[in-house]
Amino acid sequence: MTKAELLLSGNIDPEILQTIYRQNREHLSEVEIAIYDPDFNLLYHDAIDIDIVQETEEMIDEILELGSIEFRQNGWQVIGVHYRHNEQDYVVTGAGFDRMGYEKLTLLRNTLIKASVLGLILVYFLGLVFSREVLSPLRNIANSVSEITATNLNLRLRPRDSGDELTDLTLHFNEMLDRLEQSFQSQREFVHNISHEIKTPLTAIITEIELALFEAEEGDSRKETLEVILKDARKMDRIVQNLLNMAKSHYDPSQLSKKEIRVDEVLMDARTEALRGRESAEISLHVDEDIPDDTALIVNGNAYLLQVAFINLMDNAVKFSTDKKCAVSLGAEGESIKIIFADRGPGIRPEDSSRIFEPFYRTGASANLEGSGIGLSIVKKIIELHGGSISLISGDQKGSSFTVSLERAEHGEKQ
Ligand code: ADP
Repeated sequence: MTKAELLLSGNIDPEILQTIYRQNREHLSEVEIAIYDPDFNLLYHDAIDIDIVQETEEMIDEILELGSIEFRQNGWQVIGVHYRHNEQDYVVTGAGFDRMGYEKLTLLRNTLIKASVLGLILVYFLGLVFSREVLSPLRNIANSVSEITATNLNLRLRPRDSGDELTDLTLHFNEMLDRLEQSFQSQREFVHNISHEIKTPLTAIITEIELALFEAEEGDSRKETLEVILKDARKMDRIVQNLLNMAKSHYDPSQLSKKEIRVDEVLMDARTEALRGRESAEISLHVDEDIPDDTALIVNGNAYLLQVAFINLMDNAVKFSTDKKCAVSLGAEGESIKIIFADRGPGIRPEDSSRIFEPFYRTGASANLEGSGIGLSIVKKIIELHGGSISLISGDQKGSSFTVSLERAEHGEKQ
């Protein structure tokens, strides 16, 4: 407007304005001006060689009609206005490039992109930290729950004092454990009591039959019947004894009475028991020569239960192998004592080996042999009760070898 006013009033020479434009243009975003009359005759132009806006007759008419127009052309902002001077109509067009504005916009865009990316990263990590914080009580509960198994049902979750839903969950879970523990306990007591009740009259029956057999005359037909009854009664006695042992092997480890015992002595006692009534069986016991001294064979355990476990393993080896032989070897390995019970029997197929420690599981090979299928489950329970482990190496027709590993007593002195 100022340029139009200066030019049209004749106060300034157009060339001066053009020079000012060209010089300013080198340093600033100078607006380029053109002035037309209504008939599209160019009256003035800042720099005709540069000519940013390509005016047309229609554009001039539009400006005259509307008073002013604005648009963008290749990033340039263009304005056209209808200008009146001395009762005459003129059209002034101006084109400017807002470099600083564009630079600021670019800067703003880049800053927004960076801020969004950084914001997202920050939100992600803060989310991780907060979610970890929020979920940590749940994780603690899950960890505590995973430690609770059938053998340590006495464990409880630590009650929280936050008074929220998690506190309720913990309390309800502990109540459920109370009920579970009670039902496990009563089940165990039931098995224990029933076995005990049956065992007493059974022992009396066995003694009576033995006495009757002792008194029976040679050649008496009833002697044979009595022998069959005695065999069955002993079989029943073993089952009842196993049930009793099963109930005992479910003891809470903390309630188990333990003392320092020599494994070789327990093995010798077990051997004597396993051979009782089995004249043709052979159980050899080999103690590794590398064992430094007797104290290396001492474990902290319950002699009765360990003997039950060893008898079961010897019993199985003798029972399932045709040569009725079991080779027991005793060795030390680091802080643990290893006892291997090997036989040359039919072996255990891989598909059975993972299941034989389950209660009442028997393989097809044992169908014709006496047994109840609870022996190995008791063995496993007893070994685990002593913090040890049991593993099996076997294959079809390759014999079986059960390895029991027990931790050596810390101060190795026999009481
Ligand atoms: P049981 O001897 O009363 O059948 P166990 O729990 O002691 O029960 O053993 C489970 C099953 O594992 C047995 O029925 C038998 O099929 C298999 N088994 C155990 N020990 C041996 C062994 N030494 N050789 C072959 N099979 C065995």
